[in-house]
Amino acid sequence: MALIVQKFGGTSVGDAERIRAVADHVARTRAAGNDVVVVVSAMGKSTDELIRLADEVSPNRPPREMDMLLTAGERISMALVSMALGARGVESASFTGSQAGIITDGDHTRAKILEMRPDRIREALDAGLVPVVAGFQGVSTERDITTLGRGGSDVTAVALAAALKADVCEIYTDVTGVFSADPRVVAKARRLPKINFDEMMEMAATGGRVLMLRSVEFARRHHVPLHVRSSFTWEPGTWIVEEDPTMEEATVTAVTDDTSEAKITLDGVPDRPGVAAQLFRALADAGVNVDMIVQNTGTNGLTAISFTVALTDLAEARAVCHAVKDQIGATSVETDDQIGRVSIIGAGMKSAPGVTALMFETLSDNGINIEMISTSSIRISCVVRSERVAEAVRCLHTAFGLDAA
Ligand code: ASP
Ligand code: MG
Repeated sequence: MALIVQKFGGTSVGDAERIRAVADHVARTRAAGNDVVVVVSAMGKSTDELIRLADEVSPNRPPREMDMLLTAGERISMALVSMALGARGVESASFTGSQAGIITDGDHTRAKILEMRPDRIREALDAGLVPVVAGFQGVSTERDITTLGRGGSDVTAVALAAALKADVCEIYTDVTGVFSADPRVVAKARRLPKINFDEMMEMAATGGRVLMLRSVEFARRHHVPLHVRSSFTWEPGTWIVEEDPTMEEATVTAVTDDTSEAKITLDGVPDRPGVAAQLFRALADAGVNVDMIVQNTGTNGLTAISFTVALTDLAEARAVCHAVKDQIGATSVETDDQIGRVSIIGAGMKSAPGVTALMFETLSDNGINIEMISTSSIRISCVVRSERVAEAVRCLHTAFGLDAA
């Protein structure tokens, strides 16, 4: 008998019919002899709807009250799923994040988990119940209700699976797994039966939209196998597992795209120690997360620094750059929100020469100009014009032999 954590995302509990289908599936899993802990997201787009309501009543969003508001969404789903289970003769009880013992710091709207004390969940399991836990939320050490950031129900599920030493954490969603590229962009994308944590993290960080990055990091750190699968077809999906050193790895596993970033370039920057430190310290202090960074070799004592930030942070980042421009002696600050990033990812590229060359040749054969490049040991990313991103993903998917037959 296994212990399985089953997390259901917003579309999986989008309406009464979906909730009944979820309850049927949980009942089937139980009938097969497993213990189940359910984690739910808010129904459909209800989190967005609550944010919209907040905007209608107030020009700002006080973080503590936003958390109180948004956690209501998951509370609705947990009670409804628990009732639907009861109607199927499966004994169950719902728990808020706080009741489930998810203790966080006090950083409202993006709290981090400090400690898990899932005593009540264990007691419920021991009593033969199916606990249904509200995702995305916890309680701070100051006893305020907190949320874990958008998409945070994945983190709840993984954290519970780790704390309860579950055999697997199943993430149910509206796609059938993780694909070699976004199927909406590449018609010939294939579902990957298996992918390792490092690759999945690179995918999540570069635009793969299936799993929240933090939840993958968490699962890797705590050795929780993840299984991403569909709550519409219920067929097996993609397993995210630890690297198997005995297996030959594919050179390129997936191609991702991301058009959620903008580029900022500071020109005429003096080429001396401390300048980059000053700029990026100012950005960090403003809470701006910087992604790719490129600095040119200096000529005549001057250099240019380009970097990317989330589009949502662009206004803030631009203001910071203008503020430090004179201090560091840069001549100009330019921003560009028409960029996109295309990345190829694969654990096997560590030991395969020629991957970079083939990527650049493929883009050049298609007349796509590369504006920035960054790499990790298992990823190569290029920034290109945003309107060319979809085409870039498709031609790279073909060039690296990923197209489905
Ligand atoms: N309901 C929250 C959100 O929409 C959390 C989640 O779905 O994971 O971000
Ligand atoms: Mg979600």
